[in-house]
Amino acid sequence: MTIDFANLKKAYAEHEEEFKKASLEIMSSAKYILGSETEEFEENLGNFVGNKYALGCSSGTDALILSMMAMGLRSRDEVITSPFTFIATAETIACLGSKPVFVDINEETYNIDPSKIEAAITENTKAIMPVSLYGQMADMDEINTIAKKYGLAVIEDAAQSFGALYKGRRSCNTSNFGCTSFFPAKPLGCFGDGGAVFTDNEEDYEKLKAMRVHGQTRRYVHKYIGMGGRLDNLQATILNIKLKTYENDILRRQKVAESYNELISNDIVKPVVKEGRTSVWAQYTIRVPERENIQAQLKEVEIPTAVHYPIPMHLQECFSYLGYKEGDFPIAEKCASEVMSLPMNPYLETEELEYIANHLNKLL
Ligand SMILES: *Cc1c(COP(=O)(O)O)cnc(C)c1O
Repeated sequence: MTIDFANLKKAYAEHEEEFKKASLEIMSSAKYILGSETEEFEENLGNFVGNKYALGCSSGTDALILSMMAMGLRSRDEVITSPFTFIATAETIACLGSKPVFVDINEETYNIDPSKIEAAITENTKAIMPVSLYGQMADMDEINTIAKKYGLAVIEDAAQSFGALYKGRRSCNTSNFGCTSFFPAKPLGCFGDGGAVFTDNEEDYEKLKAMRVHGQTRRYVHKYIGMGGRLDNLQATILNIKLKTYENDILRRQKVAESYNELISNDIVKPVVKEGRTSVWAQYTIRVPERENIQAQLKEVEIPTAVHYPIPMHLQECFSYLGYKEGDFPIAEKCASEVMSLPMNPYLETEELEYIANHLNKLL
């Protein structure tokens, strides 16, 4: 048996005819950037998430940058975030000349621990950027309460959690800015790079919209410093097709996670989804001792695994100038050394899941 980690080929095959027809139409129409398909997609996105405004953009990374540009973030400003995430979270803060300030995570959910946020707030703090890691949102009520108390903005890095629920509200709908990614391997992926920003604030939306096109409000009239951050029509068309069945994809991912939960031995630390939340299972991530050894043995029987993520942000060379050292965020460090993600996609069959779990259980 050969197991596919994300199975993007199957995702293509599911709607192959529709994808072909729609993309050929775009190609022959010669309307490649920000056309009516993008507008339609933005409307569908807004309806799905429940936000007033949804803005398609060029990637999850650019969604984060656009949000912070719209906030007017500048050097000396600080943004509090998680050290246990994909590089883009902290990198975008630093890209704008601001300072990422890390706060350790909760060991069960892998998301930022709100009880440790207040101690990291200084007079330069402008925002809190929780990451909804592996598909589950962070403690947004607690985070929003702190943000309100100190007058900070909240930017959700929802690159892994598009569609997840928190007390009945969708990911991207519980903060000032919700930023997601449509990178192919994300739960809702396109055929290249893509992303979106969500907000309920009209003024922020107008800024984001202008900043996505070099700060332009009319052709060649530039009110702001912006960037080239547009979503192209081809990706929007693909996403419009995939969004129609996305709820079903989420359900299938949740079924796969439930099966893993049942089949995998309780000697292994399994993912915890907190009450009142759902996960869209961007990853199904467990914790194992002697990870390299287990990965190698699973590889031998054609079971791919991955590590999200092996080095926490505060120990990355690019952030050495921030002056953090080993031991500063012990939970993030421990998780980084133990986490291992198993194949996750909507198409995994019972047989495959049993095969994976049996091999894994034997290795303990
Ligand atoms: C994927 C990802 C991003 C970046 O998204 P891109 O679309 O690849 O730019 C940012 N943050 C997290 C947590 C991610 O997983």
